[in-house]
Amino acid sequence: MDRSVGLVLDPVFERHDTGDGHPESPQRLTSLCSHLESCGLAGRCHLLDPVAVDPATLALAHDAAYLKHVDQACASGVVSLDADTAVCRVSPEIARMAAGSVVALSSQVADGNLDAGFAAVRPPGHHAERDRAMGFCIYNNVAVAAASLLERPDVNRVLVVDWDVHHGNGTQHTFESDDRVFYFSVHQSPLYPGTGAATETGTGRGVGCTLNRPLPPGSGDGPFLDALENGLAPAADMFSPDFVLISAGFDAHIADPLAGMNVSTEGFGRATEIVLSIAARNGGGRLVSMLEGGYDLQAMPQAVAAHLEALLRD
Ligand SMILES: [Zn+2]
Repeated sequence: MDRSVGLVLDPVFERHDTGDGHPESPQRLTSLCSHLESCGLAGRCHLLDPVAVDPATLALAHDAAYLKHVDQACASGVVSLDADTAVCRVSPEIARMAAGSVVALSSQVADGNLDAGFAAVRPPGHHAERDRAMGFCIYNNVAVAAASLLERPDVNRVLVVDWDVHHGNGTQHTFESDDRVFYFSVHQSPLYPGTGAATETGTGRGVGCTLNRPLPPGSGDGPFLDALENGLAPAADMFSPDFVLISAGFDAHIADPLAGMNVSTEGFGRATEIVLSIAARNGGGRLVSMLEGGYDLQAMPQAVAAHLEALLRD
């Protein structure tokens, strides 16, 4: 019997048009929808309709001036918000649905209506800072979800696990002085965006609530899973989160064109099991993950399938 897993998987996220040849393409979602439907995984999950984020919730993780800038720039027809973050006229609307869907899914899991959830949204979020777009990301979906969870009386501590192959600079910076959010990242170094050194451990009240595990290119499953099992797990158990969020990028996959971490498809299933066990020991197993990177159109859907299989397993 499957666990009850919520899934946001909707073609509306293909409408964020990044132009010809951009790696963060609408085809990522087309391939993912097609694979999850043909292998039967979509049918085993509870599908949730995308929903736009409430403006007040979005403002928990972004400055008002930045939100206005994104709306105005996209309405005026600009094609890029920074060197990498391509946009179209409807990008703000679609990005608000990405953030809102993660928030809604998190709320369903926090309420106990679902055991866990995965949101296959784009644009991704973890590079977006409070006041600027970065690295294909407009709004920081995971940061918005963490901030919205912390508004609930039953959530006092949120663990964010970021296994995207790139460091989630935006998420780390948003919460680095906040002792209610523990941010863990395993990522390739050196690699974009250049942050995420092991010496970055938080600031002010948040000292000790940031943990970075940079790994060299070519590391593979062993060091990647060791970072989760022996780096993250003991620290997470000490922190004792009420809720676990995963910035689930799949660009650490061996086939990914943007990096060279060499993680296998099965490795992502094992990574999911490790984080699920952390959630089960803390916070009653409440866990939501969301798509960040992953740019190989065959490997990413297969890695997501391994991730979903683990979430569904009783
Ligand atoms: Zn990435």
